[in-house]
Amino acid sequence: MSMLLLKNAQLYTPEFMGTQSVLIAGGKVIAIDPDIQLSSSVKFEEFDCEQRILCPGFVDTLTHITGGGGEGGFATRTPEMQLSDAIIGGVTTVTGALGTDGICRTHKELLAKVKALKEEGLSAYFYTGNYHYPTITLTGSVEQDIMLIDECIGVGEVAIADHRGSQMSWQELARLASQARVAGMCANKAGIVSIHTGNGEEMLAPLFDVAYNSSIPLKAFYPTHINRTAQLLDQGIEFNLQGGTIDFTASTTPEILAGGEVLCAQALKVALDAGADENRITLSTDGHASLPVFNEQGRLTSLKCGSMSSLHEQLITAVKEFDVPLPTALKTITANPARVLKLANKGVITVNADADLLLLNADTLQLTDVLAKGQWMMKQHQLLRRGTFEKAP
Ligand code: ZN
Repeated sequence: MSMLLLKNAQLYTPEFMGTQSVLIAGGKVIAIDPDIQLSSSVKFEEFDCEQRILCPGFVDTLTHITGGGGEGGFATRTPEMQLSDAIIGGVTTVTGALGTDGICRTHKELLAKVKALKEEGLSAYFYTGNYHYPTITLTGSVEQDIMLIDECIGVGEVAIADHRGSQMSWQELARLASQARVAGMCANKAGIVSIHTGNGEEMLAPLFDVAYNSSIPLKAFYPTHINRTAQLLDQGIEFNLQGGTIDFTASTTPEILAGGEVLCAQALKVALDAGADENRITLSTDGHASLPVFNEQGRLTSLKCGSMSSLHEQLITAVKEFDVPLPTALKTITANPARVLKLANKGVITVNADADLLLLNADTLQLTDVLAKGQWMMKQHQLLRRGTFEKAP
């Protein structure tokens, strides 16, 4: 077991803790102190952080790790995520999901990819189900998937307000949430229902209907794409004020923004200014989702793919252009998503937390170094680990 001493870092846990040293062993943080001294008989690597920012690795709650899309034909199925996509973006925990396609894309493949990413050094989880209802699962039921498969932490993305969804009634949504919730309780997991919110005019109404008409609270649901339009953002803020957690999608394109999407970093600023609880806002990449653009005739004119670097990009934009305090912006991609997914050792830098750590340039916030479970993945801008079939540049 090799030890690593990170010295002279500006520590954001994500709260700012001043200049600190952090000692890592066995993939965990084992000490935090301004002055850690080790005996000369102890073998360890010492690394001078030179006053760079040390923060938790980003926790992404929605990644199409096996690829997404396919809504423009088979040739529009997006490629799967590779290890370096996550590392370059500072993402050390991913949460895989299917999406529209639950026929050609399967949970078996999703779980295999989760296990592959874990072997490659990341932390990885997945949601059972997909857009559709009745829910497609791995073992035959949502409860069994969540209770019996370690990596399965909830169900999603279940689509609402979308023509591609199953147009579920609030009773069906409540029943599904109850299944996920009870299984989560029994297995000490999140049991969360990740909700894909489309551009249908009902917006979040089905979730409010569940909360008003049943014993299932808003916090059972975790709706994403809340920055899709200004109107949905308004309703998302209300959802947050009433106790729910909302998620903004960081990946975008100029064409999608021109179509009315609110830039993720701007949505964060708007929500904070409106008094939303900053502990119940998260950002996710929607990595490897297809980002299609259609012309006025409804024809596909361009197709891009969600980026795993989008969390880092939106962090910089939120801080530099929208004056969001760094600890607040960091929370939305570290401590908050870890709390939603009930990952106690993720998203924070404390003693006993997993050593998923990033170093950022203190001025530009540029990512320079990545550690995942105590292993160097990127060091001084150099990518040290690649997926098995990724070519070195
Ligand atoms: Zn979605």
